[in-house]
Amino acid sequence: MLLSVIVPCYNEEENVPLFYEELMKNSGFFEEKALDVEVIYIDDGSSDSTVEEVKKLHERDERVKLVSFSRNFGKEAAIYAGFEKSSGDYVVMMDADLQDPPSLLPELFGYVEEGYDSVATRRVTRKGEPPIRSFFARQFYKIMNKISRTDIVDGARDYRLMTRQVVDSILALGEYNRFSKGIYGWVGFRTKWVEFENVERIKGETKWSFWGLVLYSLEGIVAFSTAPLALASFMGIVFCLLAVALIVFILIRSIFWTDPVGGWPSLVCIISLVSGVQLLCLGILGQYLAKTYLEVKKRPIYLKKEEID
Ligand code: UDP
Ligand code: MG
Repeated sequence: MLLSVIVPCYNEEENVPLFYEELMKNSGFFEEKALDVEVIYIDDGSSDSTVEEVKKLHERDERVKLVSFSRNFGKEAAIYAGFEKSSGDYVVMMDADLQDPPSLLPELFGYVEEGYDSVATRRVTRKGEPPIRSFFARQFYKIMNKISRTDIVDGARDYRLMTRQVVDSILALGEYNRFSKGIYGWVGFRTKWVEFENVERIKGETKWSFWGLVLYSLEGIVAFSTAPLALASFMGIVFCLLAVALIVFILIRSIFWTDPVGGWPSLVCIISLVSGVQLLCLGILGQYLAKTYLEVKKRPIYLKKEEID
């Protein structure tokens, strides 16, 4: 049996060897279960010496493999590349910064042996994270679960142990705008959730800015829900009904009462409001159109620069 460990890395030169050491603390467990291991580092266009660090590891241990991108394509692309490259019967995704503790592996593997297809992890605390970020993250999951039929779990990490069958199913979803948390939920299968306390990153800094996360969450909404489009139609209906009511009101008023010229301020308010709503709806439509445009171009999800087996 082969276990593929996929590690996306973007400027993680310090963490590459540390991760390897930490993972190999499980070697006793791998032996006990007669598991062969391959560690696939995906270099997501790092500008530091991440690639050199991986090559050093490869010289020491042939089980270390590398796929290097031509530029930074984002973590989602790295995950996809890792799945494509993996050949294991089991595949596990882990961050290079050790926020996904490799010490949990035996526990996760236990559940796969029990017959689960996929063992996912979620952190129950967000210790060490800025409170504003945690607050918005929670709101995002709340809204998302209201407007999407796909289950997206609060605090879910990308740390997952999956069987080959699940990985192949994920690979079958070749969409360009990838939102893994949704994709995992969408493919389904029997999933066991394992909870753990948040671990802070050991070296380096998070690659996510606040705005980066906001844009990512919008991407998730557009990818896994059409509720905003329905909202646009809903607002259209509301405003049509309002307009009819206003026409009736004005007709009746001008028939039974004399109507002095006036109402300039109210007219300006109405025009501003309605044009605002129109632009908002147009914007929503534009978001979906933009994503469709990117999808239709069928560009590759990533470009390889180098590969080491
Ligand atoms: N990462 C990546 N490409 C990117 C950004 C991040 O491959 O464009 C990797 C990064 O090297 C790390 C993992 O994704 O292994 C998680 O990133 P990070 O720790 O910055 O995110 P956080 O844990 O703060 O959500
Ligand atoms: Mg991290």
